[in-house]
Amino acid sequence: MREKSDQLFSQAKEIFPGGVNSPVRAFGSVGRSPFYVSHAQGPYLWDEDGNRYVDFVNSWGPLVLGHAPPTVVEAISKQAKLGTSYGACHRLEIELAEIIQGYLPSLEMIRFVNSGTEAGMAVIRLARGFTKRSKIVKFQGCYHGHADMLLAKAGSGVLTFGIPGCDGVPEAAVSDTLIAQYNDLDSVEVLFEEHGDEIACVIVEPVVGNCGLILPQDGFLQGLRDIVDRFDALLIFDEVMTGFRVDLRGAQGLFGVTPDLTMLGKVIGGGLPVGAFGGRRDVMELLAPTGGVYQAGTLSGNPLAMAAGAEALRQWGADDKFEQTSMATKMLADALKEIAERSAHPMQSAQVGTMFGFFFAPEPVYSFGDTLKVDKDKFSSFFSIMLDRGVYFAPSAFEAGFVSNAHVGEPMAFALSQIEEGIKALDGD
Ligand code: PLP
Repeated sequence: MREKSDQLFSQAKEIFPGGVNSPVRAFGSVGRSPFYVSHAQGPYLWDEDGNRYVDFVNSWGPLVLGHAPPTVVEAISKQAKLGTSYGACHRLEIELAEIIQGYLPSLEMIRFVNSGTEAGMAVIRLARGFTKRSKIVKFQGCYHGHADMLLAKAGSGVLTFGIPGCDGVPEAAVSDTLIAQYNDLDSVEVLFEEHGDEIACVIVEPVVGNCGLILPQDGFLQGLRDIVDRFDALLIFDEVMTGFRVDLRGAQGLFGVTPDLTMLGKVIGGGLPVGAFGGRRDVMELLAPTGGVYQAGTLSGNPLAMAAGAEALRQWGADDKFEQTSMATKMLADALKEIAERSAHPMQSAQVGTMFGFFFAPEPVYSFGDTLKVDKDKFSSFFSIMLDRGVYFAPSAFEAGFVSNAHVGEPMAFALSQIEEGIKALDGD
């Protein structure tokens, strides 16, 4: 029963394009209409009709402790009483930045912004300013936010809706964006052979989370580092999704490859709007006011977001929460594959840290090209069955899933029992 949600969605469609404020939320690619959240706590979301869902979306990654964790809520309320926005310097900016640097030492200097998209826009401008070159290399299926030059052949909603480019992005905006294939170093070499002295940077999701979940093959990230070094370009890891998710040290710590610049977002804001980028001091110092690369923001370093992020990271790094949550995530990914294959539904599942993904596909998925072969219709049926059984996976075959520490134990056991039943129901389709 989702009468109230359906009614709200009808109302919303009159007000918001597609009824939503971010495309994938519309549930279009899975042929459903969205539920409307009334409240959330721990691993659960409740909709306006009173249905409860185990939430494996977790606001698309940020909520490592689950919804409304008490100490984070307290940190936000305490800060709200002291002021919600200063537009001026305050100590929480330094506090959060130092916590981040403790885990990701490659961020010698940091700038906070308000979203991953902003971090992407700024980091590309900075790389271009530093190298005095214009071209950038990105990978098909990777998503780095919705800035014009980064929307060419992107993942996430762009992929979900089969939009190859994007209306409104002029040819000129993407003419310096070169596209390579993830897990294929030759495709990068070819671009550098031809344009090496014009390429400012390579930007990559070190673990792809916007094309389903795709892990780097052995040597791929180090190979990128080597190519970039040979041509004096910069390597940018977009860790907006992977930061504090695949490892407390990010993908850079997990795979032992250090980028020149890193984008962050999601987890570091503890569920409030945030983004950041940082890296080599000599590059970061080119930002205004020390350098000539301009970047600014009214709400950047917002004290509520800084307070929430700092408290979330303190909790996340304590008492083996990350390790426990990773183990629960592995259990989920393994169980999905085992249950599906027992019922003769070929599945590929993957897990790294607290991120997971699964494709209904007979062959492993290493790149965007491989995702074209996955069974999207079967995913849609499975999504729908699971939603009706109270388990909420991302409403697209091409998004990663996220587990929080609040899922460990009973909520995960409930989800696994529902998956068992859900796959059986898929058989009956
Ligand atoms: N980069 C990556 C890897 C992302 O997954 C996202 C969003 O999902 C972004 C950048 C953009 O971040 P935001 O949605 O905060 O603008």
